[in-house]
Amino acid sequence: MQQQLNVSRENFDDWLVPTYAPASFVLVRGEGSWLWDQEGKDYVDFAGGIAVNALGHAHPQVKKTLVEQADKVWHLGNGYTNEPVLRLAKQLIDATFAEKVFFCNSGAEANEAALKLARLYGHKQGGNKSEIIAFKNAFHGRTLFTVTAGGQPKYSEDFAPLPQDITHLPFNDLAAVADHISDRTCAVIVEPIQGEGGVVPADASFLQGLRELCDKHGALLIFDEVQTGVGRTGELYAYQGYGVVPDILTTAKALGGGFPIGAMLTLDKYGVLFQPGTHGTTYGGNPLATAVAGTVLSMINTPEVLNGVQKRHQWFIDGLKRINEQYQVFSEVRGAGLLLGAVMSERFNGQAKQLNTLAAEEGLIALIAGPNVLRFAPSLIISGADIEEGLNRLERAVKRLCA
Ligand SMILES: *Cc1c(COP(=O)(O)O)cnc(C)c1O
Repeated sequence: MQQQLNVSRENFDDWLVPTYAPASFVLVRGEGSWLWDQEGKDYVDFAGGIAVNALGHAHPQVKKTLVEQADKVWHLGNGYTNEPVLRLAKQLIDATFAEKVFFCNSGAEANEAALKLARLYGHKQGGNKSEIIAFKNAFHGRTLFTVTAGGQPKYSEDFAPLPQDITHLPFNDLAAVADHISDRTCAVIVEPIQGEGGVVPADASFLQGLRELCDKHGALLIFDEVQTGVGRTGELYAYQGYGVVPDILTTAKALGGGFPIGAMLTLDKYGVLFQPGTHGTTYGGNPLATAVAGTVLSMINTPEVLNGVQKRHQWFIDGLKRINEQYQVFSEVRGAGLLLGAVMSERFNGQAKQLNTLAAEEGLIALIAGPNVLRFAPSLIISGADIEEGLNRLERAVKRLCA
């Protein structure tokens, strides 16, 4: 075998386009909810690769599926279907409202498909039905269409001219939507819990109201469940907990448990608008990705795992409360299941990143969601002992932040 180059964190700045500012260490190995860096230092993982590694790192059953499929066939292209993609489509249909599935490779691509389908649907209705309603602080991905639908102008404005006819309204403000929506609206896109925007749950009445307004005006309701999906909230999909059924749902992140895959779920009557040639992707429905996702989905969609998420949610809440009683570092802990946001208190306003950096020094990998929220999205099967160890490390970081 070829001699491998020695590499370090500094090489990132030399060789990679600086779209990210990664931590000062390089992780080399993961197992369950643990990670190790080049120096052999260990970390408890409360980030799960940004809500992706829902079964932790290197789960034996997921690994087995990957290796078995690697022995069969890796890629065929869309001129040929394959067994894993057909099985995964049926699993998603059986587990949700969906009747048709489109596969792609990421969350942005799933949303891109959803928004294009909504526009196509609008045009088929005739008139000038192209308006898309989205929400402030929303995050839907980084393609030009999805970043424009996202509710942070600073992420899109440098890339103007932008796709037209997208309106941003305040999140959780049903009256604003009722005021604005019209028969010109082809879709409303919303995250059931705004993830990147700070772990802000939608009110049930807001989602219910959006459903009614969409029905009234013939607009498609799109739920972006890229972050909330696949067990994250303790339901397979968050819409099931809210009891509000969308017309289109997008899923990615945890779906592949670490293998890139995305999907758009919808009803027959909308799905068939995408005919051969209307939309597509080379890798979408790739047998390696869909085989892995099939195993991930069947392992997560069980009462044990989903109820276990609620149990772990409570362990987190109790542990964070205990830390907070001593240090008053958080003003609130919000979210659902194992998507949690600890909001920094007044005194530590804007210091989520500092706390996250200190946590890493203490051997805990967490996330932030904006400048003021420390975010946790760990493995859905993380053990009680690992949660306790992670929270102990967090407590040491909090103590240093307060010092
Ligand atoms: C992460 C995320 C996306 C984008 O997914 P990518 O796989 O990064 O393209 C879209 N929507 C939401 C809600 C997300 O959390």
